[in-house]
Amino acid sequence: MNCPECRSNKVVRMGFIVTRNGKKQRYRCNKCGRTFYVNKQKV
Ligand SMILES: [Zn+2]
Repeated sequence: MNCPECRSNKVVRMGFIVTRNGKKQRYRCNKCGRTFYVNKQKV
């Protein structure tokens, strides 16, 4: 997982949220501080 903002891989999981469309994993970038969500997907 890489930050969509700065491409850093220094991201940490911050739990997840549940939306109508399903669960989304929440991440926070340690480099730029940005938080973002990623759709849960089966690998
Ligand atoms: Zn970042």
